[in-house]
Amino acid sequence: MIRSLIVVGGGQSAAVAIRTLRRRGYDGSVLLIGEEHVPPYQRPPLSKEYLAGEAEPGELTLLDPGWCAANDVELRLGVRAESVRGPEVRLAGGATLTADALLIATGGRPRRLPGLEGERVRYLRTVADADRLRDDLKPGARVIVVGAGFVGSEVASTALARGAEVTVLECLPNPLQRILGDEIGRACAALQRASGVDLRTGVTVTGYAETGQGAVVTTGTGETAEGDVVVVGAGMVPNTEALDGFALDDGVLVDEHCRTSVEGVYAAGDVARHYHPLYGRHVRVEHFDHASAHGMAAAKNLLGRATPYTAPHWFWSDQFDRNLQYAGHADRWDEIVVRGSLDELDFAAFYLREGRLEAAFGMERGGEVAVARQLIAARVTPDPRVLADEDADLTDML
Ligand SMILES: Cc1cc2nc3c(=O)[nH]c(=O)nc-3n(C[C@H](O)[C@H](O)[C@H](O)COP(=O)(O)OP(=O)(O)OC[C@H]3O[C@@H](n4cnc5c(N)ncnc54)[C@H](O)[C@@H]3O)c2cc1C
Repeated sequence: MIRSLIVVGGGQSAAVAIRTLRRRGYDGSVLLIGEEHVPPYQRPPLSKEYLAGEAEPGELTLLDPGWCAANDVELRLGVRAESVRGPEVRLAGGATLTADALLIATGGRPRRLPGLEGERVRYLRTVADADRLRDDLKPGARVIVVGAGFVGSEVASTALARGAEVTVLECLPNPLQRILGDEIGRACAALQRASGVDLRTGVTVTGYAETGQGAVVTTGTGETAEGDVVVVGAGMVPNTEALDGFALDDGVLVDEHCRTSVEGVYAAGDVARHYHPLYGRHVRVEHFDHASAHGMAAAKNLLGRATPYTAPHWFWSDQFDRNLQYAGHADRWDEIVVRGSLDELDFAAFYLREGRLEAAFGMERGGEVAVARQLIAARVTPDPRVLADEDADLTDML
């Protein structure tokens, strides 16, 4: 049984792991090392309610300092772990700490695009980033969003709702294409355009300049977009630089028990490429629900109760007055079965591979996605006609 734990990183996974440990009776020491100056907080509102000015920073907090004091959890904030080697953590400034076990929960940072740097360029990951961007999203502001992934699309949506003029530049043929494919990506493009976004797809950013009047982005097709601010949503890079002697592959590799390749060191959340028994391979995802559930699983495993992490992933996005949800994980599929109407932007899409349901995506279809998540966990091979039939009860397949 461990008696001391250092958590490196102070986000969603760290907070949930620590709460789980205390709730389950762990009474050893807990020290959290967090680079940001604030206690762990939720990031999803940073592109939605918080960015819209509808939430205060305190509402996002996940690990209240008062709770930490009462539960003997030490928060060392504004401190970066420079290196993690075996059970040893070296902090910026040189101090070295050690514990019986470590949890790596360092998440990730925005992928920066070469050339896209300047006074008018914004990346979004932290509450400080959101504070700065919030000031930019004024009525009439010209906002250019580079990248129509989830964060970029949500920023576009919030900017539009704040009265800005929004241009989105996406290198793929449609928003969210990489995850959802062509057909469903087209529905997402229709959603953006119908909402008033100037969505330009199939365009790669090749140049950036700032003039007295604003920012000018040039694309490979020779067209330009001019704006007051440019928000880059080009994905995330896992924060693994401090890890020394660990097996890495676009994230730190962990098994289904959240164990890294180094004895006594666990990892969870966005930083961890985890083996998932349901999919039979390592995957790395960047979702709030996963960060929580994975942090919880890491805590249970740290306590010596071998608990494999097996639930299918799930995430949501709110954009342009639509709720989008996704369950499972599909990077390849043979067939997409649609239930509902793509034209009316009210549908569920089921991703099948060799007959098995691998993933589901819904626009305003949270109910169907919730059932699909159970079907994915049960590894069903559904009848596509039943999936497509609005009158069929999907729970009958469970
Ligand atoms: C704008 C935005 C909107 C999102 N919206 C959604 C959504 O709608 N739905 C959804 O499912 N997911 C959403 N997500 C994703 C979700 O927030 C993340 O999956 C989740 O925050 C990951 O938690 P984490 O604990 O793994 O990492 P993080 O939350 O990234 O926390 C990691 C922390 O560790 C710190 N750190 C890193 N390296 C070090 C170091 N060496 N030393 C000390 N500290 C370090 C970082 O500064 C950070 O504070 C969104 C993310 C963003 C940025």
